[in-house]
Amino acid sequence: MWYTDTRDSSLRIDFRQAVIQGMSEKTGGLYIPTEFPKLPDSFLNRPSVPTFRETAFEMAKPYTEGTIPPSVLEEIIVDAYPFDVPVKPLDPNTYVLELFHGPTCAFKDVGARFMARVMGYFNKDEDKALRILVATSGDTGSAVGSAFHNIPGIDVTILYPKGRISHIQEKQLSTFTGNIRALSVNGSFDDCQRLVKEAFTDSDLRGRFKLSSANSINISRLLPQAFYYMRSSLLVKNRMNYDPRHSEDLIIVTVPSGNFGNLTSGCIAKKMGAPIDGFIAATNTNCTIPLWLESGKYQPKESVATLSNAMDVGSPSNQERLASIYSLEEIKNLMAGFWVNDAETLESIENCSYKTGYTLDPHGAVSWRAWDEIRKGAMKNLLNGIKRQEGQTGLVNSVPAWGKKAGDGKCTGIILETAHPAKFGETVEKALGHDPVIPERLEKVLHLPDKSIPMEKDFRSFKEWLMENL
Ligand SMILES: *Cc1c(COP(=O)(O)O)cnc(C)c1O
Repeated sequence: MWYTDTRDSSLRIDFRQAVIQGMSEKTGGLYIPTEFPKLPDSFLNRPSVPTFRETAFEMAKPYTEGTIPPSVLEEIIVDAYPFDVPVKPLDPNTYVLELFHGPTCAFKDVGARFMARVMGYFNKDEDKALRILVATSGDTGSAVGSAFHNIPGIDVTILYPKGRISHIQEKQLSTFTGNIRALSVNGSFDDCQRLVKEAFTDSDLRGRFKLSSANSINISRLLPQAFYYMRSSLLVKNRMNYDPRHSEDLIIVTVPSGNFGNLTSGCIAKKMGAPIDGFIAATNTNCTIPLWLESGKYQPKESVATLSNAMDVGSPSNQERLASIYSLEEIKNLMAGFWVNDAETLESIENCSYKTGYTLDPHGAVSWRAWDEIRKGAMKNLLNGIKRQEGQTGLVNSVPAWGKKAGDGKCTGIILETAHPAKFGETVEKALGHDPVIPERLEKVLHLPDKSIPMEKDFRSFKEWLMENL
């Protein structure tokens, strides 16, 4: 399998090079496989639905062929996924895909844990340690730190803005030990990002250390996210066969999105044969992609802060990947776009809890709202010519190929829940009047000692620290 560059389609590199380089320094483009092989029918039509790990192995095989032997791949998958990725029914035609069963309680664990093991494998015969630097505004840092914990030959330095992330997030970051450490920077997230960027261009640091970014755009984080789309859609398809009311429905997956890596992974799964008929690209007020579907013009913006803060991205980098695997026309046929403001997010946490008894986090609440409104009538209204006004939240004015079926109530939905509600306890409390139950693995970090290292926001202090301590 070859990989190419979204900005230079003549490029051919293998998986190893794509993972190690992360992105193209020359063009600034992102790496993407040149093909998305469809899984064999014998796999897709198995009467008993494959497990998550079986699905992962089957899907990862073609992308890693020639760079990771199958026996090693199997070990990587077993080691990366000691947890399940369950699908639960919410109502007769809605399922929730719970992506928060990993160690840090957010969906980023799925991608980061695979990436960490793949990088560990690629780096194992190198004599120099790989030093990863990440700036984080919350979820990414803890997922990356946790994923690389105890991976030999690699260490991770996380920079976070002191006092500007949630209490639980700060606890998750500041209590790492061993090969992972966190610097609590006296500054903003942008300061953290700037320090990391400067480090990568600093010739002393580059000369002395082998630095890497383990960035969210790394292809080894994107591919594993396709596993759960495949597995969950096969599972839902299988269950639909037992329900005559819904056995002929289309399957629509709603993805609460920020940088659009998750949705891109969904598109990869579809290309590989997942029984998914369409997607809903659901965002908060940072609605760049929904507006792109509506107008056909891609206009990135500055991000604004919202309650679903892991999706506060105004200029989503994976737009470039989406546009490289599909034409705009194909994307518009495949996806509906929907956006939700903060008041509606709170209302939706309450609404879902009231209707189904299920507690969502603010990100999952965005997906519930989009799906529930679309099936309840938003799509039908749009088909009848009732359009969203400019600036108004909700379904954007673009009808996908599956729109008519959705308008007629002939769709079954899978909504993605990307974080455990306890990670956003304050917001959930505001919506429901009580705190969500904290899972043990989150509760545990609250009692661990703070090991974070205080850091000033000027580059000299940071560089000095790296020189002395790495
Ligand atoms: C990162 C994140 C998202 C957004 O995912 P993208 O791949 O950036 O679109 C959604 N929800 C949670 C909880 C996240 O951490």
